[in-house]
Amino acid sequence: MAALLSLLIWPSAFAASQTPAVGAETTCRGLAERLRNFDAQPCLDAELAAARSVSVDKRPLLFRDFPAAAGNATPKRVLVLGGIHGDELSSVSVVFQWIELLKSGRYDRYAWRVLPLTNPDGLFARPSTRVNAHGVDLNRNFPSPMWSSQALSHWKDKAKGDKRRYPGQSAASEPETRWIVEQIEQFQPDAIVTVHAPYGILDFDGPQDPPKKLGYLRLQPIGIYPGSLGEYAGLSLKLPVITLELPQAHISPSASQSGRIWADLLSWLDRTIAEAPASR
Ligand SMILES: [Zn+2]
Repeated sequence: MAALLSLLIWPSAFAASQTPAVGAETTCRGLAERLRNFDAQPCLDAELAAARSVSVDKRPLLFRDFPAAAGNATPKRVLVLGGIHGDELSSVSVVFQWIELLKSGRYDRYAWRVLPLTNPDGLFARPSTRVNAHGVDLNRNFPSPMWSSQALSHWKDKAKGDKRRYPGQSAASEPETRWIVEQIEQFQPDAIVTVHAPYGILDFDGPQDPPKKLGYLRLQPIGIYPGSLGEYAGLSLKLPVITLELPQAHISPSASQSGRIWADLLSWLDRTIAEAPASR
């Protein structure tokens, strides 16, 4: 219902150019078709709201806020992203597993903003693609200092012009990238969690001490790519960016595996973020 309401209360100025082609319900039913072990009903019950921005193919960019407990006026904020690479399907379903946990209200010592599928056009392409509908790797398109000096040359030389890793014609050329940047600017997270697959490791960018493990994922830094979220938010904005690489792109972790990742994430946040002085 909240998702429906959010669609209805869009400012009319945005309606003409930014009306999504399909709503949250269509997205949830489409996910259930694509993702193994994904049930549409919890997604429908997740009360996802549609942003004013839409994807290249005018699919909704969906999110859900979980505010901190009433009385906590200055909570630390955590931004969670799934599916920035559209063919890493497990990275979407695990975020929906966490939405179920967040709905319990047990984690309201933080304010959460959750973006479960940040590249819907890639996910719903047939077959799913890493890149968005413009053929851009969104995780190489962030407007970081290294983008203008290195993104295209890195792509041509180091990535050998791999079409799956094209950083775009310019920094933040893509609506999905601009939407994520907008979320970072508006929500002002104290930590960002982004989920990928299939390397089965944990990566970290930012000045803080990284977690050594989250559940069955062990810390194994994989380096910096120009225009990646880690480079943009971790190095440039100095926010902790926790990157999970699940071990399989098409098979979700079990509920107990994702629950252990979640428990370790919370204990790292409690140790590292909750006690940190206010950043704003
Ligand atoms: Zn990825």
